[in-house]
Amino acid sequence: MKVKKFCKLTAVLLAVACVACCFTACKEKGDDGQRSAYVITADVNTEEMTVQATCAVDYVNRTDVELGEVWFHLYPAAYRDGAQYTPVGVAETESAYPNGVSYGGIEILSVEGGEYEITGRDQDILAVKLGKSILPTQSTKITVAYTLKIPQMRHRFGYENGTVNLGNWFPIECAYDGGFVDSPYYSSGDPFCLPVCDYNVTITAPKEYTVAMPAAAVRTEEETTATTQCKLEKARDFAAVLGKFETCTQSVGGVAVTYYYTADEKAEEHLKAACDALAYFSQSFGQYPYKTYSVVQTAFNQGGMEYTGLVYVSDAAQDAMITEIIVHETAHQWWYGIVGNDQIRHAWLDEALAEYSTTLFYKNHPEYGVKYADRIADAMGGFTLFCELSRCEDTSMERAIEEFSSSTEYTYMTYVKGQLMYDGLCNMLGEKTLVAGLARYADTYAFATARPDDLIACLEQVSKRELRPYIMGFLNGTVKLYSHA
Ligand SMILES: [Zn+2]
Repeated sequence: MKVKKFCKLTAVLLAVACVACCFTACKEKGDDGQRSAYVITADVNTEEMTVQATCAVDYVNRTDVELGEVWFHLYPAAYRDGAQYTPVGVAETESAYPNGVSYGGIEILSVEGGEYEITGRDQDILAVKLGKSILPTQSTKITVAYTLKIPQMRHRFGYENGTVNLGNWFPIECAYDGGFVDSPYYSSGDPFCLPVCDYNVTITAPKEYTVAMPAAAVRTEEETTATTQCKLEKARDFAAVLGKFETCTQSVGGVAVTYYYTADEKAEEHLKAACDALAYFSQSFGQYPYKTYSVVQTAFNQGGMEYTGLVYVSDAAQDAMITEIIVHETAHQWWYGIVGNDQIRHAWLDEALAEYSTTLFYKNHPEYGVKYADRIADAMGGFTLFCELSRCEDTSMERAIEEFSSSTEYTYMTYVKGQLMYDGLCNMLGEKTLVAGLARYADTYAFATARPDDLIACLEQVSKRELRPYIMGFLNGTVKLYSHA
């Protein structure tokens, strides 16, 4: 996610949180054919803002233990009235709900393939007890029929200003790390840890809507509705956006890049930014592995949001900020998408890289008029001011998102300090070696879920330098980046 820029003077005062680091994470390969496959069929009613859907999963046991049950996240449950873990915090309520608080939710109608119960810390987990347990590599079929109520809000899942965001909108399997990872929907950060899966999705909606999809789609019109269908393989997640869009498309390196927009006088420029970013990151970190890339301007309360093959760009963003959001979200195609990570426990792994990759993009594209040195100076200035104003004593980056005392602290420690860590690595190793180390990381952990140790190992192997003490100083908060006045 690309967060909104924070006003430095409104940085909140913080409580100190001291936590232990945990470097173990779920790690599974997804490029060996051992993936679950989802067939989702959804009918969107834009009058009532409801969805009738079926999600049929060929679930593959990618663990090394026999499974008698399978757990799925029900992220839309966070949008219901009475949810304990709400999708936005108090500070973001006004921007997320410009027309007042609105609720959504999910109702499970039936489950085939086992007995089910709704459980989890906030009634947000669908646990399916299988009729017959499955051994490692075995699969089983689970079909869930459900209805969604879409809230009126500017968020991953919600509608506002003519667009309908279908993000995190279907039952999706929990990662497994010695047990199912059942993290709730925290309002800070992107609270996800998802293995790659295959998707075949069909969405029917009133025909005046275009459905932006993350893969090449087939659209069939009926009398009043249109059905849009696509397949996407080896994806972290599947999101779509409905809107009355204008579009522009350009091919880059064999990838069809489409910009779906509602109001943008510089649409062609922003499409070019998406193409330039995709080409630069492909050249630097390894080829983008999909045939299409969709950038969608939509109602969103932060800057942007990443999904495999499709990203949101907030319709509130203007001019140069649109470009910056596009570049940041495009970098996430590598850091979050291709290389997955536990975004709850190690959010810096993808966010610091998305932010620093954006800075490298600008450095290598001077025509965009953003200087590397200025971005680093801004990061250092903002970080210093934040720490001074908030009297922040714990500057560790390696914390779970719920362990940061505020969204602001999370942002400064994860994105901003992370950017400074990579700038230091670039000074030590040189840009070429650093980029080669990151390419090694992308290649080694493509379609898997990487851990902090995996990143450090790749950088050390390629640079032939011991980097752990330097990186750990940032992660543990022991490095001193500035002197107190
Ligand atoms: Zn991000």
